[in-house]
Amino acid sequence: MKESDILATKDQLRFIEESSELLKKNEERSGKKLTASVITFGCQMNARDSEKLAGILVSAGFELLEDTEDADFVLYNTCTVRDNANQKLYGHLGEALFRKKKNPEMMVAVCGCLPQEPSAFEKLKKSYSFVDLIFGTHNLYAFPEYLNRLLSGERHIYEITDHSDSIVEDLPVLRKYPFKSGVNIMFGCNNFCTYCIVPHVRGRERSRESADILDEIRRLAGSGVREVMLLGQNVNSYGNGIEGEISFPELLKRVCDIDGIERVRFMTSHPKDLSEELIQTIKADTKICRHLHLPLQSGSTRVLKEMNRRYTKEQYMDLALHIKDEIPDIALTTDIMVGFPGETPADVDDTIDVINTVKYDNAFTFIYSKRMGTPAAVREDQVPPDLVKESFDRVLKCVQDTAREQSLRWQGQTLPALVEDVNESLEGYVTGRLSNNMIVHFPGPASLIGDIVPVKLEECRGFYYMGSR
Ligand code: SF4
Repeated sequence: MKESDILATKDQLRFIEESSELLKKNEERSGKKLTASVITFGCQMNARDSEKLAGILVSAGFELLEDTEDADFVLYNTCTVRDNANQKLYGHLGEALFRKKKNPEMMVAVCGCLPQEPSAFEKLKKSYSFVDLIFGTHNLYAFPEYLNRLLSGERHIYEITDHSDSIVEDLPVLRKYPFKSGVNIMFGCNNFCTYCIVPHVRGRERSRESADILDEIRRLAGSGVREVMLLGQNVNSYGNGIEGEISFPELLKRVCDIDGIERVRFMTSHPKDLSEELIQTIKADTKICRHLHLPLQSGSTRVLKEMNRRYTKEQYMDLALHIKDEIPDIALTTDIMVGFPGETPADVDDTIDVINTVKYDNAFTFIYSKRMGTPAAVREDQVPPDLVKESFDRVLKCVQDTAREQSLRWQGQTLPALVEDVNESLEGYVTGRLSNNMIVHFPGPASLIGDIVPVKLEECRGFYYMGSR
């Protein structure tokens, strides 16, 4: 860690202590324990950020609630990758205003990707002026300071910067699961796909130092974590820009060597940067989960070029089929976008051809959403909604048919599952996750949670299994 980052961490830890004192005074005044709730939208990176935000709130002394209903402090950690994520937030803020009218002491904060978008930030300030605190992705580490200012009575705290070189480590984290954890290995993205807002709101790529990552994972393993997911927008370019830093496959190997770590996952891999070294590393160590998410986006070489994805249909298919040849028990999943500007039915045929050839185990299919500030948003050849809908239905049907067929290939096998939860809808059942990321429900006691147990996959129900022990 850089000297300036170490100092920043110390400052923020001091703000947490001070907030704790302020909170106690606040509680004495109001005569009640103050509560907080963190609502998360979007991806795994946001989920991990929310664990950090929740950790700070709990360290300061708040009682954490699942629901916003009775919370004295509500923090929305937002996403802006598609417009419906923005609309969802505005809906939640409408409810928050209603509650704030009943409880004027209630504090409302918005953070994450959405306020990094200038137009969304302006809208928040103008139309949702009851929001007390707004901060962006680059300021997340300074949340203890903002909390301190809020508890001191300050309002309308707006803290957005357009980049950060700092990586502040070691602030408190409240993990959702005691036995598994996400671990950020890098932040931001340099790829500038022409439809994507991420590089604009998350900034340029910054990798954490491998020594810090490995230390964090050792500490996690020491506290009972058995599975880690290494997180980055493009893990395959891990270490770029840090002189002498190890490659992503080497980092994976070192994580696998840590005592107590039994499973390692990672997300996300840009196909253009996926190396043979990575394929051989996954193949050689079964601690690395048999699941690879390899975003396709489109199967049309022309569209891929316009998306700035930097691979062709053929290069993608060769890579995916090679991975399947090398690691036959791997589950491949993907993201597919429909309705990119200029996309024709023939382009969609190409996408369907890739799906039929690669045969994904699952795919997240979604409709292109115009994001202001990206090159694709200003194109005049936006695809008419009825054609987008028709294309989407074609792609979705193909994905579902092939994925169903793929899911069936595990039928009858006995595979280790990490038990994650009690099944809420089936009494006496628990839910586990296989190395290939599939879910299996099977009879078992809650005491199994956190254990890795062999489960026989009895019945495939589309995208999950019913099993037995
Ligand atoms: S690789 Fe492309 S799609 Fe993924 S975050 Fe970066 S710019 Fe967005």
